[in-house]
Amino acid sequence: MPSEMISPAEADALLAALPRTPEVTLPLARCQGRILRAEIVSDRPQPPFDRVAMDGIAFAYSDWERGMRRFALRGAQKAGEKPKRLEAEGGCLKAMTGAVLPLGADCIAPVEELRFEDGYAVIGDGFQAQAGRFIHRAGSDCAAGEALVPSGTVLEAPHLGTAAACGRTSLRVAETPGVAVIATGDELVDPGRMPAPHQIRRSNPHAVEAALRKHRIERVALLHCRDDASRLKAAVEGVLGKCQVLILTGGVSMGDTDHVPAVMQEMGVRPVFHKIRQKPGKPFWFGLAAGDRPVFGLPGNPASVLVCLHRYVIPALMRAMGAAEQAFAPIPCVAAEAMPAPGRLTQFRPAAFAFGEDGRLRASWVANQGSGDFTGWGRAQGFVEIPPAEAELPAGTPLKAWMW
Ligand code: AMP
Ligand code: MG
Repeated sequence: MPSEMISPAEADALLAALPRTPEVTLPLARCQGRILRAEIVSDRPQPPFDRVAMDGIAFAYSDWERGMRRFALRGAQKAGEKPKRLEAEGGCLKAMTGAVLPLGADCIAPVEELRFEDGYAVIGDGFQAQAGRFIHRAGSDCAAGEALVPSGTVLEAPHLGTAAACGRTSLRVAETPGVAVIATGDELVDPGRMPAPHQIRRSNPHAVEAALRKHRIERVALLHCRDDASRLKAAVEGVLGKCQVLILTGGVSMGDTDHVPAVMQEMGVRPVFHKIRQKPGKPFWFGLAAGDRPVFGLPGNPASVLVCLHRYVIPALMRAMGAAEQAFAPIPCVAAEAMPAPGRLTQFRPAAFAFGEDGRLRASWVANQGSGDFTGWGRAQGFVEIPPAEAELPAGTPLKAWMW
């Protein structure tokens, strides 16, 4: 373990080495928000046939070239029908969007440009026909066997629509890890109970659970442990074999009741780092249990929990699940206002975001009373990372943002 405090970038590098999670096959209805692990490949060209792209009439361009503007209606080609043949010259078929282009036709005039009279379709003066216009040619979107959605994609509506279009009813996605969250602290009571004046409600685990659920990590067990080394040992022993990820909150600093680092080591969890040069969240502890299962020790104050979760824990888990880098990368933005010199530690500040007239995303500071509770952070949409600096940062300074 590095003996010194490390930088956020060094922490990123150490967290990037988690082993890849297993895969599962799930029906499409359960895939939204999951991470694709085997690309979606087209099973046939798209469109699979020359497809009519406008309601109108289908006719032969050679007729138009001969000066014809009045076409005898010979029937209709509807979506879902086998292709009909346009026999003889001078005729047309009504053709509907999504229909196969009738054989012998290579030109569409949309219904808005037509007049129908006495069994004829008459094309209005303003229209200029063009061979192939309003026809979506077979294979023009993709060929059969083309990879349409890459592995690592977080699956959303268009990807699931693509999967169905390719005949897939299920997909290979990352299995999400089972997570145990142990909140430590003698001062904590269940949110459903009235705390005594010297107690506070145990809020952190609920924030942790919400952030995990957002990424479809839904097997989350919430536990509480008092600030007692042997009880903590027992609690950790009880969950270590059953979960793939352990998250602890509180008990990682230098106080007499901060037992997490020592207990973890006694339990055979190998420490990887302790303390990052940042504020809030400096005492963040990270180690690996048997099988390289990650153990995250988040400092207990709620601001630290929010920052460490979104800045480190979620990206590390997303990466382990095989998500593409852009799925968890921070969002570039600029400071909307000047900021006092951050000093020697990287600072995380709650922020609200809006696009400026130049199209850039601007971060405005949301006031928070120190870093001790959720209040200021709940008014923010996320936070920005402000690298160490000894001078004031002017408005317009480029920054990285993480959003809830
Ligand atoms: P610790 O990291 O254990 O020293 O805790 C730092 C601060 O966070 C203390 O003020 C704790 O009371 C507070 N805290 C710890 N755990 C929680 C929690 N689950 N919910 C709310 N506040 C907490
Ligand atoms: Mg504590």
